Amino acid sequence: MTQPATAPARPDARIWMDGALIPWAQATVHVLAHSLHYGSGVFEGVRAFATDRGPAIFRLGDHIDRMFLSAESVGMEIPHSPDALCRACVDTVRDSGLAAAYIRPICFYGDGGLGLHAQGLPVHAVVAAWEWGEYLGSNSTRDGIRLHTSKIVRDRINRPLNHSKICGNYIYSAVAVREARAAGCDEALLLERDGRVSEGSGENLFLVRDGALLTPELGSALDGITRRTIMELARAQGIEVRETRLDRDDVLQSDEAFFTGTAADVTPIRELDGHAIGAGGAGPVTGRLQRCYHDAVTGRDAARADWLTFVQ
Ligand code: PMP
Repeated sequence: MTQPATAPARPDARIWMDGALIPWAQATVHVLAHSLHYGSGVFEGVRAFATDRGPAIFRLGDHIDRMFLSAESVGMEIPHSPDALCRACVDTVRDSGLAAAYIRPICFYGDGGLGLHAQGLPVHAVVAAWEWGEYLGSNSTRDGIRLHTSKIVRDRINRPLNHSKICGNYIYSAVAVREARAAGCDEALLLERDGRVSEGSGENLFLVRDGALLTPELGSALDGITRRTIMELARAQGIEVRETRLDRDDVLQSDEAFFTGTAADVTPIRELDGHAIGAGGAGPVTGRLQRCYHDAVTGRDAARADWLTFVQ
C-alpha cells in the first residue's frame, strides 16, 4: 500500500485565484473563512492527460457543470461563468508546464462573518494543478486493491446535498478511509442503512457478473463522470449495463469488481474484508474497459474527441 505524494508542494508553480494566476505561496485563506469552519465550499476533481497534442482535460465542461450544481445545492453564487472557470482550468494547466495533471477547482466562502447563513460573504474561486499518479497506490490499477466495509453509513436523504461535491460531506469519506487503512486495506466500501452498496470514499463501484456490468443506482452515490463514461464505453462495446440494487454479498460473489473515479481511474478490487474477488488484478472485462477508458482520455478514440479540451 504505497501512496504517491498527495500533498502538492510546488513552490514554483502558480495557482489561479479569483481571476489571476498568483504564486503558490500567496494562495492562502483567512482563518475565519466560513468554509473552513462549516465545510461550505464546493469543489471538483478533474484530470488532464498526456496526448499526442499535449495535455488534454477530460470532460472539463461536465466537471464544471457539476460544480455549479453543487454550488446551487448550498445556495452559493459563484462569481464567474462556467466558461470562465473552464478557461481558468486550461490556463492553470498550461501555466504549470505539466504534461498530465490533477486539477482541483474549488469555490468557498471567505471571511466576514461566521453566521451559518453565509449571507453577504465573498465567494472565492481557486484552481490548482499538480502531478498525481495512481491515487490508490502504485500499481493499483494493475494489481487491484483491498477493500474494507466501512461502519460509516451513507444516507439517501438530502439527495441534492449527497449528490454534490460539498467540502463538508467529505469528512465521512475521510474517516472511512482512515478506518480502512487502520484495518490494513487500501480503500473503504460504504453501504446504506439497509445494507445496499453505495460507493467508495471517492469512487463509484462496478461489478461484472456473467459478462454484464452492474453498478448501484444513484441513491446516495455521486453521479461520477467516470461512472457515466464507463457506462457509455461499455454499452458501445456491446456489454450490458444495469443500474440496480447491490448488496455486499453481490460484491463478494462477483466475477470482477472495480472502482471508477477521476483520481482513482479504473481500479480493480481484488479483496473485500479479506475475501478474494475474481482471480485478483484486472479481470478480462475490467481490463477491456480500462483500455477503452485510456483510449478515450488520451485522444486515441476519435469517437470521443468531444470529451477532450486541449490545453495548447
Ligand atoms: N464518489 C465520490 C464520493 C467522489 O468523491 C468521487 C470523485 N469525484 C466519485 C464518486 C467519482 O466521481 P468522478 O468519476 O466524477 O471523479
